[in-house]
Amino acid sequence: MENCLFCKIIAGEIPSTKVYEDDKILAFRDINPQAPTHILVIPKEHIAGADELNENNSAVVAHIFAKIAEIAKQEGLSNGYRVVSNVGEDGGQTVRHLHFHILGGKKLNTEMA
Ligand code: AMP
Ligand code: ZN
Repeated sequence: MENCLFCKIIAGEIPSTKVYEDDKILAFRDINPQAPTHILVIPKEHIAGADELNENNSAVVAHIFAKIAEIAKQEGLSNGYRVVSNVGEDGGQTVRHLHFHILGGKKLNTEMA
């Protein structure tokens, strides 16, 4: 997808600190971390956000969550963590390529909104 920041990261046109990669997904460190551990997990297929998921393209989400559990263990987040996906303008989504934030390494703010 042209002009999509995360598609450019997948293509290697913009550098990232990779944490995990396979043929379907990429995990990399957030450039502006909101917690000691802040990782983004994205599908390689361009899906604009959780609002664009459907029965035909959502299998990758199960794969992402299976790998999130592995990544969290690898990162030592044994005391818990948060997985967040912001959706659209009201949800505070700034990059319109589906992504899941993994936030951890401290006791997180309990306010949800
Ligand atoms: P959201 O606001 O949910 O759309 O999340 C987008 C996230 O992408 C933010 O947490 C940004 O800090 C992060 N981000 C933006 N540009 C980059 C980049 N080049 N490398 C890594 N993370 C980025
Ligand atoms: Zn994209």
